Amino acid sequence: MNYKSTRNSSLQVTAAQAIAQGISAEGGLFVPETLPEITQDDLRMLADKSYVERAKFVLGKFLTDFTEEELANCVESAYTADKFGSDDIAQLAHLYDGTYMLELWHGPTCAFKDMALQLLPHLLTVSAGKTAQGKEMVILVATSGDTGKAALEGFKDVPGTKILVFYPEDGVSNMQKRQMTTQEGKNVGVCAIKGNFDDAQNGVKAIFTSPEMAEKLAEKNRMFSSANSINWGRLVPQIVYYISAYCELVKAEEIQCGDPINVVVPTGNFGNILAAYYAKGMGLPVKTFICASNANKVLTDFINTGTYDKNRAFHTTISPSMDILISSNLERLLYALSGEDDKQIADWFGQLKSQGTYTVSEDVKQKLQAEFVGGYCDDCATKATIKAVFDKYSYLCDTHTAVAVKVYEDYKKKTGDTTKALIASTASPYKFTGAVLEALCGEVPQMDDFAQVQKLHEMSGLPIPTALAELKNKSVRFAGCIEAGQMPETVLSLLGE
Ligand SMILES: *Cc1c(COP(=O)(O)O)cnc(C)c1O
Repeated sequence: MNYKSTRNSSLQVTAAQAIAQGISAEGGLFVPETLPEITQDDLRMLADKSYVERAKFVLGKFLTDFTEEELANCVESAYTADKFGSDDIAQLAHLYDGTYMLELWHGPTCAFKDMALQLLPHLLTVSAGKTAQGKEMVILVATSGDTGKAALEGFKDVPGTKILVFYPEDGVSNMQKRQMTTQEGKNVGVCAIKGNFDDAQNGVKAIFTSPEMAEKLAEKNRMFSSANSINWGRLVPQIVYYISAYCELVKAEEIQCGDPINVVVPTGNFGNILAAYYAKGMGLPVKTFICASNANKVLTDFINTGTYDKNRAFHTTISPSMDILISSNLERLLYALSGEDDKQIADWFGQLKSQGTYTVSEDVKQKLQAEFVGGYCDDCATKATIKAVFDKYSYLCDTHTAVAVKVYEDYKKKTGDTTKALIASTASPYKFTGAVLEALCGEVPQMDDFAQVQKLHEMSGLPIPTALAELKNKSVRFAGCIEAGQMPETVLSLLGE
Protein backbone atom coordinates (compact mmCIF):
# COMPACT_ATOMS: atom_id res chain seq x y z
CA MET A 1 0.00 0.00 0.00
CA ASN A 2 1.44 3.32 -1.09
CA TYR A 3 0.44 6.84 -0.14
CA LYS A 4 -0.05 9.90 -2.30
CA SER A 5 -0.59 13.56 -1.49
CA THR A 6 -3.87 15.49 -1.63
CA ARG A 7 -1.99 18.05 -3.76
CA ASN A 8 -0.02 15.59 -5.88
CA SER A 9 -1.85 12.40 -6.84
CA SER A 10 1.13 11.01 -8.73
CA LEU A 11 3.37 10.96 -5.64
CA GLN A 12 4.10 7.50 -4.26
CA VAL A 13 5.56 7.02 -0.78
CA THR A 14 5.44 4.15 1.69
CA ALA A 15 3.53 4.35 4.97
CA ALA A 16 6.85 4.71 6.81
CA GLN A 17 7.81 7.69 4.62
CA ALA A 18 4.40 9.29 5.07
CA ILE A 19 4.58 8.91 8.85
CA ALA A 20 8.21 10.04 9.18
CA GLN A 21 7.65 13.07 6.96
CA GLY A 22 4.29 14.15 8.43
CA ILE A 23 3.29 16.49 5.61
CA SER A 24 4.06 16.31 1.90
CA ALA A 25 6.67 18.71 0.49
CA GLU A 26 4.15 20.70 -1.60
CA GLY A 27 1.92 21.21 1.44
CA GLY A 28 -0.58 18.41 0.78
CA LEU A 29 -1.56 15.66 3.19
CA PHE A 30 -0.72 12.00 2.73
CA VAL A 31 -3.60 9.65 1.94
CA PRO A 32 -3.65 5.92 1.12
CA GLU A 33 -3.88 5.22 -2.60
CA THR A 34 -6.94 3.03 -1.97
CA LEU A 35 -8.86 2.08 1.14
CA PRO A 36 -8.41 -1.57 2.11
CA GLU A 37 -11.60 -3.57 2.50
CA ILE A 38 -13.09 -4.92 5.68
CA THR A 39 -15.85 -7.49 5.16
CA GLN A 40 -18.74 -8.49 7.40
CA ASP A 41 -16.94 -11.78 7.99
CA ASP A 42 -13.94 -9.80 9.21
CA LEU A 43 -16.19 -7.82 11.55
CA ARG A 44 -17.74 -11.02 12.95
CA MET A 45 -14.29 -12.53 13.41
CA LEU A 46 -13.00 -9.38 15.13
CA ALA A 47 -16.01 -9.24 17.45
CA ASP A 48 -14.44 -12.05 19.48
CA LYS A 49 -11.00 -10.46 19.63
CA SER A 50 -9.32 -8.01 21.99
CA TYR A 51 -8.69 -4.36 21.13
CA VAL A 52 -5.02 -5.14 20.54
CA GLU A 53 -5.91 -7.88 18.04
CA ARG A 54 -8.39 -5.64 16.26
CA ALA A 55 -5.76 -2.91 16.04
CA LYS A 56 -3.17 -5.28 14.55
CA PHE A 57 -5.68 -6.46 11.96
CA VAL A 58 -6.78 -2.99 10.84
CA LEU A 59 -3.35 -1.35 10.96
CA GLY A 60 -1.81 -4.26 9.09
CA LYS A 61 -3.99 -3.38 6.10
CA PHE A 62 -2.59 0.17 5.96
CA LEU A 63 1.00 -0.21 7.12
CA THR A 64 2.05 -2.91 4.70
CA ASP A 65 5.73 -1.97 4.87
CA PHE A 66 5.82 -2.80 8.59
CA THR A 67 6.59 -6.43 9.43
CA GLU A 68 4.02 -8.31 11.46
CA GLU A 69 6.46 -8.31 14.34
CA GLU A 70 7.13 -4.55 14.16
CA LEU A 71 3.43 -3.84 14.13
CA ALA A 72 2.73 -6.24 16.98
CA ASN A 73 5.44 -4.54 19.06
CA CYS A 74 4.02 -1.09 18.36
CA VAL A 75 0.44 -2.04 19.19
CA GLU A 76 1.28 -4.12 22.25
CA SER A 77 3.46 -1.35 23.71
CA ALA A 78 0.80 1.31 23.16
CA TYR A 79 -2.46 -0.28 24.27
CA THR A 80 -1.79 -1.74 27.70
CA ALA A 81 -4.17 -2.14 30.63
CA ASP A 82 -1.55 -0.30 32.64
CA LYS A 83 -2.00 2.86 30.55
CA PHE A 84 -5.71 2.59 29.76
CA GLY A 85 -7.03 1.24 33.04
CA SER A 86 -8.20 -2.07 31.51
CA ASP A 87 -7.79 -4.22 28.40
CA ASP A 88 -10.99 -2.66 27.15
CA ILE A 89 -9.06 0.21 25.55
CA ALA A 90 -12.03 2.03 23.98
CA GLN A 91 -14.95 1.45 26.31
CA LEU A 92 -18.59 1.70 25.30
CA ALA A 93 -21.20 3.04 27.70
CA HIS A 94 -24.93 2.74 27.07
CA LEU A 95 -26.38 6.24 27.40
CA TYR A 96 -29.99 5.53 26.52
CA ASP A 97 -31.94 3.41 24.08
CA GLY A 98 -29.89 2.93 20.92
CA THR A 99 -27.31 5.56 21.88
CA TYR A 100 -23.82 4.59 22.98
CA MET A 101 -20.91 6.64 24.24
CA LEU A 102 -17.56 5.57 22.83
CA GLU A 103 -15.31 6.59 25.74
CA LEU A 104 -11.97 7.40 24.22
CA TRP A 105 -10.45 9.04 27.29
CA HIS A 106 -9.24 6.23 29.52
CA GLY A 107 -5.62 6.77 28.48
CA PRO A 108 -2.84 8.52 30.42
CA THR A 109 -3.87 12.14 29.65
CA CYS A 110 -7.65 11.62 29.88
CA ALA A 111 -8.48 12.75 26.30
CA PHE A 112 -9.09 10.82 23.10
CA LYS A 113 -5.77 12.01 21.66
CA ASP A 114 -4.11 9.23 23.68
CA MET A 115 -5.71 6.66 21.39
CA ALA A 116 -3.41 7.83 18.59
CA LEU A 117 -0.56 9.43 20.50
CA GLN A 118 0.29 6.40 22.59
CA LEU A 119 0.84 4.51 19.33
CA LEU A 120 2.38 7.23 17.13
CA PRO A 121 5.83 7.36 18.80
CA HIS A 122 6.23 3.64 18.16
CA LEU A 123 5.06 3.93 14.55
CA LEU A 124 7.34 6.90 14.08
CA THR A 125 10.46 5.28 15.50
CA VAL A 126 9.95 2.25 13.25
CA SER A 127 9.27 4.56 10.29
CA ALA A 128 12.36 6.66 10.97
CA GLY A 129 14.43 3.50 11.20
CA LYS A 130 13.23 2.51 7.73
CA THR A 131 13.51 5.89 6.03
CA ALA A 132 15.74 8.28 7.97
CA GLN A 133 18.53 6.09 9.32
CA GLY A 134 20.20 7.65 12.32
CA LYS A 135 18.34 10.97 12.18
CA GLU A 136 16.87 12.38 15.36
CA MET A 137 13.17 13.17 14.91
CA VAL A 138 12.04 16.57 16.15
CA ILE A 139 8.32 16.49 16.76
CA LEU A 140 6.63 19.88 16.52
CA VAL A 141 3.11 20.22 17.84
CA ALA A 142 0.56 23.01 17.79
CA THR A 143 -2.16 22.26 20.28
CA SER A 144 -5.51 23.56 21.38
CA GLY A 145 -4.90 21.72 24.64
CA ASP A 146 -5.28 17.98 24.52
CA THR A 147 -2.90 17.04 21.70
CA GLY A 148 0.03 18.75 23.36
CA LYS A 149 -0.18 16.82 26.58
CA ALA A 150 -0.97 13.53 24.87
CA ALA A 151 2.00 13.98 22.52
CA LEU A 152 4.32 14.92 25.39
CA GLU A 153 3.29 11.81 27.31
CA GLY A 154 3.61 9.62 24.23
CA PHE A 155 7.07 10.87 23.24
CA LYS A 156 8.51 11.50 26.70
CA ASP A 157 12.01 9.94 26.83
CA VAL A 158 11.49 7.99 23.59
CA PRO A 159 15.06 7.50 22.25
CA GLY A 160 15.84 9.28 19.00
CA THR A 161 13.09 11.89 19.42
CA LYS A 162 12.62 15.40 20.75
CA ILE A 163 9.23 17.00 21.19
CA LEU A 164 8.29 20.70 21.24
CA VAL A 165 4.76 21.88 21.94
CA PHE A 166 3.17 25.30 21.33
CA TYR A 167 -0.21 26.23 22.80
CA PRO A 168 -2.32 29.42 22.77
CA GLU A 169 -1.76 31.22 26.07
CA ASP A 170 -5.44 31.86 26.81
CA GLY A 171 -6.95 29.04 24.78
CA VAL A 172 -6.61 26.07 27.12
CA SER A 173 -8.19 25.05 30.42
CA ASN A 174 -6.30 25.43 33.73
CA MET A 175 -5.93 21.71 34.01
CA GLN A 176 -4.62 21.44 30.46
CA LYS A 177 -2.08 24.22 31.06
CA ARG A 178 -0.93 22.58 34.27
CA GLN A 179 -0.59 19.23 32.51
CA MET A 180 1.71 20.73 29.90
CA THR A 181 3.80 23.18 31.92
CA THR A 182 4.69 20.49 34.45
CA GLN A 183 5.65 17.90 31.81
CA GLU A 184 8.53 15.64 32.78
CA GLY A 185 11.07 14.08 30.45
CA LYS A 186 14.54 14.88 29.10
CA ASN A 187 13.51 15.43 25.47
CA VAL A 188 10.53 17.77 25.90
CA GLY A 189 9.90 21.51 25.46
CA VAL A 190 6.69 23.53 25.91
CA CYS A 191 5.95 27.18 25.13
CA ALA A 192 2.81 29.35 25.13
CA ILE A 193 2.14 31.77 22.26
CA LYS A 194 0.15 35.00 22.18
CA GLY A 195 -2.60 34.16 19.70
CA ASN A 196 -5.10 31.38 19.08
CA PHE A 197 -4.74 27.77 17.97
CA ASP A 198 -4.76 28.67 14.29
CA ASP A 199 -1.80 31.01 14.85
CA ALA A 200 0.07 28.17 16.55
CA GLN A 201 -0.86 25.71 13.80
CA ASN A 202 0.12 28.14 11.03
CA GLY A 203 3.43 28.76 12.75
CA VAL A 204 4.16 25.04 12.93
CA LYS A 205 3.15 24.51 9.30
CA ALA A 206 5.44 27.36 8.22
CA ILE A 207 8.37 25.84 10.11
CA PHE A 208 7.72 22.44 8.53
CA THR A 209 7.80 23.81 5.02
CA SER A 210 10.74 26.19 5.57
CA PRO A 211 13.85 25.06 3.68
CA GLU A 212 16.11 27.14 5.97
CA MET A 213 14.77 25.43 9.08
CA ALA A 214 15.12 22.01 7.44
CA GLU A 215 18.71 22.82 6.57
CA LYS A 216 19.52 23.99 10.11
CA LEU A 217 18.20 20.71 11.48
CA ALA A 218 19.94 18.59 8.87
CA GLU A 219 23.27 20.08 9.96
CA LYS A 220 22.72 18.41 13.33
CA ASN A 221 21.44 15.18 11.75
CA ARG A 222 17.87 15.97 12.77
CA MET A 223 14.60 16.18 10.89
CA PHE A 224 11.15 17.55 11.68
CA SER A 225 8.11 15.42 12.00
CA SER A 226 4.58 16.13 13.09
CA ALA A 227 2.39 14.63 15.75
CA ASN A 228 -0.57 16.82 14.72
CA SER A 229 -3.56 15.08 13.24
CA ILE A 230 -2.28 15.89 9.76
CA ASN A 231 0.18 13.00 10.28
CA TRP A 232 -1.14 9.76 8.81
CA GLY A 233 0.23 7.98 11.87
CA ARG A 234 -2.28 9.93 13.96
CA LEU A 235 -5.26 9.13 11.81
CA VAL A 236 -4.80 5.46 11.19
CA PRO A 237 -5.03 4.42 14.88
CA GLN A 238 -8.35 6.26 15.07
CA ILE A 239 -9.91 4.12 12.37
CA VAL A 240 -9.43 1.15 14.68
CA TYR A 241 -11.75 2.29 17.43
CA TYR A 242 -14.73 2.85 15.17
CA ILE A 243 -14.35 -0.69 13.84
CA SER A 244 -13.78 -1.95 17.37
CA ALA A 245 -16.89 -0.17 18.69
CA TYR A 246 -18.99 -1.69 15.92
CA CYS A 247 -17.63 -5.13 16.85
CA GLU A 248 -18.56 -4.49 20.49
CA LEU A 249 -22.13 -3.63 19.49
CA VAL A 250 -22.34 -6.82 17.43
CA LYS A 251 -20.88 -8.87 20.27
CA ALA A 252 -23.34 -7.39 22.78
CA GLU A 253 -26.17 -8.12 20.29
CA GLU A 254 -27.17 -4.47 20.30
CA ILE A 255 -26.99 -4.63 16.50
CA GLN A 256 -26.79 -7.34 13.86
CA CYS A 257 -23.61 -7.41 11.82
CA GLY A 258 -24.40 -5.31 8.73
CA ASP A 259 -26.83 -2.92 10.44
CA PRO A 260 -25.96 0.70 9.72
CA ILE A 261 -25.18 3.05 12.61
CA ASN A 262 -24.83 6.82 12.84
CA VAL A 263 -21.63 8.34 14.17
CA VAL A 264 -21.59 11.63 16.10
CA VAL A 265 -18.29 13.41 16.67
CA PRO A 266 -17.42 16.64 18.48
CA THR A 267 -15.13 18.09 15.85
CA GLY A 268 -12.22 20.47 15.67
CA ASN A 269 -9.46 19.63 13.24
CA PHE A 270 -11.67 17.02 11.53
CA GLY A 271 -9.34 14.11 12.34
CA ASN A 272 -11.62 12.01 14.51
CA ILE A 273 -14.65 12.19 12.22
CA LEU A 274 -12.46 11.61 9.16
CA ALA A 275 -11.21 8.36 10.70
CA ALA A 276 -14.85 7.25 10.95
CA TYR A 277 -15.34 8.20 7.30
CA TYR A 278 -12.35 6.08 6.31
CA ALA A 279 -13.75 3.19 8.36
CA LYS A 280 -16.94 3.50 6.32
CA GLY A 281 -14.89 3.59 3.13
CA MET A 282 -13.38 0.25 4.19
CA GLY A 283 -16.84 -1.26 4.59
CA LEU A 284 -18.03 -0.34 8.10
CA PRO A 285 -21.81 0.16 7.89
CA VAL A 286 -22.27 3.84 8.76
CA LYS A 287 -25.24 5.85 7.54
CA THR A 288 -24.72 9.46 8.60
CA PHE A 289 -21.81 11.34 10.13
CA ILE A 290 -22.99 14.06 12.47
CA CYS A 291 -20.31 16.72 12.78
CA ALA A 292 -20.78 18.73 15.99
CA SER A 293 -19.18 22.13 16.54
CA ASN A 294 -19.23 24.76 19.26
CA ALA A 295 -19.69 28.49 18.60
CA ASN A 296 -16.77 28.27 16.14
CA LYS A 297 -19.17 26.73 13.65
CA VAL A 298 -17.15 27.05 10.47
CA LEU A 299 -17.80 23.37 9.68
CA THR A 300 -21.55 23.58 10.26
CA ASP A 301 -21.73 26.47 7.81
CA PHE A 302 -19.50 24.67 5.35
CA ILE A 303 -21.60 21.53 5.35
CA ASN A 304 -24.78 23.59 4.94
CA THR A 305 -23.56 25.96 2.23
CA GLY A 306 -20.48 24.52 0.51
CA THR A 307 -18.55 27.68 1.38
CA TYR A 308 -15.72 27.44 3.86
CA ASP A 309 -15.10 30.83 5.40
CA LYS A 310 -12.65 31.38 8.23
CA ASN A 311 -13.03 35.18 8.06
CA ARG A 312 -15.12 35.45 11.17
CA ALA A 313 -14.79 36.16 14.88
CA PHE A 314 -12.93 33.53 16.85
CA HIS A 315 -14.68 32.43 20.04
CA THR A 316 -12.92 31.11 23.12
CA THR A 317 -15.33 28.52 24.52
CA ILE A 318 -15.58 25.94 27.30
CA SER A 319 -14.76 23.25 24.70
CA PRO A 320 -11.33 24.65 23.75
CA SER A 321 -10.15 21.61 21.81
CA MET A 322 -12.76 22.53 19.21
CA ASP A 323 -11.90 26.24 19.06
CA ILE A 324 -10.56 26.00 15.54
CA LEU A 325 -11.29 27.91 12.35
CA ILE A 326 -9.04 25.90 10.03
CA SER A 327 -9.90 22.21 10.12
CA SER A 328 -6.85 20.76 8.41
CA ASN A 329 -8.12 17.24 7.83
CA LEU A 330 -11.07 18.47 5.83
CA GLU A 331 -8.59 18.57 2.95
CA ARG A 332 -8.46 14.79 2.98
CA LEU A 333 -12.24 14.48 2.84
CA LEU A 334 -12.52 16.94 -0.03
CA TYR A 335 -9.78 15.09 -1.87
CA ALA A 336 -11.90 11.94 -1.67
CA LEU A 337 -15.19 13.69 -2.52
CA SER A 338 -13.69 15.51 -5.51
CA GLY A 339 -12.61 12.23 -7.09
CA GLU A 340 -9.00 12.81 -5.96
CA ASP A 341 -8.65 16.01 -7.97
CA ASP A 342 -5.28 17.25 -6.68
CA LYS A 343 -5.32 20.45 -8.80
CA GLN A 344 -8.71 21.39 -7.42
CA ILE A 345 -7.59 20.75 -3.86
CA ALA A 346 -4.42 22.81 -4.29
CA ASP A 347 -6.59 25.60 -5.70
CA TRP A 348 -9.19 25.57 -2.90
CA PHE A 349 -6.60 25.40 -0.15
CA GLY A 350 -4.54 28.05 -1.88
CA GLN A 351 -7.63 30.27 -1.75
CA LEU A 352 -8.09 29.42 1.91
CA LYS A 353 -4.57 30.57 2.56
CA SER A 354 -4.73 33.77 0.52
CA GLN A 355 -8.37 34.81 1.03
CA GLY A 356 -9.51 32.75 3.98
CA THR A 357 -12.37 31.20 2.02
CA TYR A 358 -13.27 28.83 -0.81
CA THR A 359 -16.44 27.36 -2.25
CA VAL A 360 -16.62 23.76 -3.40
CA SER A 361 -18.40 22.66 -6.57
CA GLU A 362 -22.10 21.77 -6.50
CA ASP A 363 -21.18 18.12 -7.06
CA VAL A 364 -18.82 17.98 -4.07
CA LYS A 365 -21.34 19.82 -1.91
CA GLN A 366 -24.03 17.26 -2.75
CA LYS A 367 -21.73 14.35 -1.99
CA LEU A 368 -20.81 16.01 1.30
CA GLN A 369 -24.43 16.55 2.30
CA ALA A 370 -25.36 12.99 1.36
CA GLU A 371 -23.24 11.68 4.23
CA PHE A 372 -22.52 14.54 6.63
CA VAL A 373 -24.82 16.63 8.77
CA GLY A 374 -23.40 19.62 10.64
CA GLY A 375 -24.73 21.21 13.80
CA TYR A 376 -23.46 23.40 16.60
CA CYS A 377 -24.28 24.62 20.06
CA ASP A 378 -23.02 27.47 22.23
CA ASP A 379 -21.61 27.31 25.76
CA CYS A 380 -24.98 27.91 27.34
CA ALA A 381 -26.56 24.91 25.58
CA THR A 382 -23.44 22.84 26.31
CA LYS A 383 -23.78 23.44 30.03
CA ALA A 384 -27.52 22.77 29.97
CA THR A 385 -26.80 19.47 28.22
CA ILE A 386 -24.20 18.41 30.80
CA LYS A 387 -26.77 19.04 33.53
CA ALA A 388 -29.68 17.38 31.72
CA VAL A 389 -27.67 14.27 30.83
CA PHE A 390 -26.39 13.98 34.39
CA ASP A 391 -29.83 14.45 35.94
CA LYS A 392 -31.56 12.08 33.54
CA TYR A 393 -29.02 9.31 33.01
CA SER A 394 -26.48 9.83 35.82
CA TYR A 395 -23.86 10.14 33.10
CA LEU A 396 -21.28 12.88 33.35
CA CYS A 397 -20.00 14.29 30.02
CA ASP A 398 -17.15 16.66 29.47
CA THR A 399 -17.82 19.92 27.60
CA HIS A 400 -16.79 18.57 24.15
CA THR A 401 -18.85 15.43 24.45
CA ALA A 402 -21.84 17.48 25.59
CA VAL A 403 -21.67 19.47 22.33
CA ALA A 404 -21.99 16.20 20.45
CA VAL A 405 -24.90 15.00 22.58
CA LYS A 406 -26.78 18.26 22.05
CA VAL A 407 -26.20 18.37 18.31
CA TYR A 408 -27.27 14.74 18.07
CA GLU A 409 -30.49 15.39 19.98
CA ASP A 410 -31.26 18.36 17.72
CA TYR A 411 -30.62 16.13 14.71
CA LYS A 412 -32.96 13.43 15.98
CA LYS A 413 -35.71 15.95 16.71
CA LYS A 414 -35.39 17.43 13.26
CA THR A 415 -35.13 14.22 11.25
CA GLY A 416 -36.78 11.52 13.35
CA ASP A 417 -33.84 9.29 12.43
CA THR A 418 -33.78 6.44 14.96
CA THR A 419 -30.72 4.65 13.59
CA LYS A 420 -28.57 3.52 16.51
CA ALA A 421 -25.82 5.98 17.20
CA LEU A 422 -22.30 6.01 18.48
CA ILE A 423 -21.28 9.29 20.13
CA ALA A 424 -17.55 9.89 20.44
CA SER A 425 -16.87 10.85 24.06
CA THR A 426 -13.58 12.66 23.79
CA ALA A 427 -12.42 13.76 27.24
CA SER A 428 -12.77 13.01 30.91
CA PRO A 429 -15.02 15.60 32.62
CA TYR A 430 -12.20 16.16 35.12
CA LYS A 431 -10.13 17.85 32.44
CA PHE A 432 -12.72 20.64 32.31
CA THR A 433 -13.78 20.62 35.93
CA GLY A 434 -14.58 24.34 36.21
CA ALA A 435 -17.04 24.37 33.33
CA VAL A 436 -18.58 21.03 34.28
CA LEU A 437 -19.15 22.18 37.88
CA GLU A 438 -20.64 25.42 36.63
CA ALA A 439 -23.03 23.36 34.50
CA LEU A 440 -24.09 21.27 37.49
CA CYS A 441 -24.15 23.97 40.21
CA GLY A 442 -24.95 27.14 38.25
CA GLU A 443 -21.63 28.77 39.16
CA VAL A 444 -17.95 27.91 39.40
CA PRO A 445 -17.25 27.32 43.09
CA GLN A 446 -14.51 29.66 44.39
CA MET A 447 -11.84 27.10 45.20
CA ASP A 448 -8.61 25.89 43.60
CA ASP A 449 -8.51 23.43 40.71
CA PHE A 450 -7.93 20.41 42.90
CA ALA A 451 -10.65 21.25 45.39
CA GLN A 452 -12.96 21.54 42.37
CA VAL A 453 -11.91 18.09 41.23
CA GLN A 454 -12.71 16.74 44.69
CA LYS A 455 -16.11 18.45 44.66
CA LEU A 456 -16.95 17.04 41.24
CA HIS A 457 -15.98 13.62 42.53
CA GLU A 458 -18.28 13.96 45.51
CA MET A 459 -21.16 15.07 43.30
CA SER A 460 -20.74 12.47 40.58
CA GLY A 461 -19.02 9.49 42.15
CA LEU A 462 -16.85 9.23 39.02
CA PRO A 463 -13.32 8.10 39.97
CA ILE A 464 -10.65 10.84 39.70
CA PRO A 465 -7.97 9.89 37.14
CA THR A 466 -4.67 9.38 38.99
CA ALA A 467 -2.72 11.36 36.39
CA LEU A 468 -4.80 14.48 37.13
CA ALA A 469 -4.70 14.05 40.91
CA GLU A 470 -0.89 13.78 40.78
CA LEU A 471 -0.50 17.16 39.04
CA LYS A 472 -1.06 18.86 42.38
CA ASN A 473 2.46 18.01 43.52
CA LYS A 474 4.30 18.79 40.30
CA SER A 475 6.23 22.01 39.73
CA VAL A 476 6.06 24.19 36.61
CA ARG A 477 9.00 23.60 34.26
CA PHE A 478 7.88 25.63 31.23
CA ALA A 479 6.50 29.11 31.87
CA GLY A 480 7.56 30.81 28.58
CA CYS A 481 5.18 32.81 26.36
CA ILE A 482 6.17 34.28 22.97
CA GLU A 483 4.71 36.06 19.92
CA ALA A 484 3.71 33.61 17.16
CA GLY A 485 6.37 35.18 14.92
CA GLN A 486 9.10 34.05 17.31
CA MET A 487 8.31 30.36 16.88
CA PRO A 488 11.22 29.49 14.54
CA GLU A 489 13.87 30.99 16.83
CA THR A 490 12.20 29.44 19.87
CA VAL A 491 12.34 26.03 18.21
CA LEU A 492 16.06 26.44 17.65
CA SER A 493 16.71 27.66 21.16
CA LEU A 494 14.66 24.84 22.75
CA LEU A 495 16.77 22.45 20.68
CA GLY A 496 19.87 24.11 22.11
CA GLU A 497 21.07 25.53 18.78
C1 LIG B 1 -9.02 17.16 19.80
C2 LIG B 1 -10.33 17.08 20.46
C3 LIG B 1 -11.52 17.18 19.74
C4 LIG B 1 -11.54 17.45 18.25
O1 LIG B 1 -11.06 16.35 17.51
P1 LIG B 1 -10.59 16.57 15.99
O2 LIG B 1 -10.02 15.26 15.59
O3 LIG B 1 -9.56 17.65 16.02
O4 LIG B 1 -11.78 16.94 15.21
C5 LIG B 1 -12.71 17.03 20.42
N1 LIG B 1 -12.74 16.83 21.75
C6 LIG B 1 -11.60 16.74 22.49
C7 LIG B 1 -11.71 16.56 23.95
C8 LIG B 1 -10.37 16.86 21.87
O5 LIG B 1 -9.26 16.77 22.61
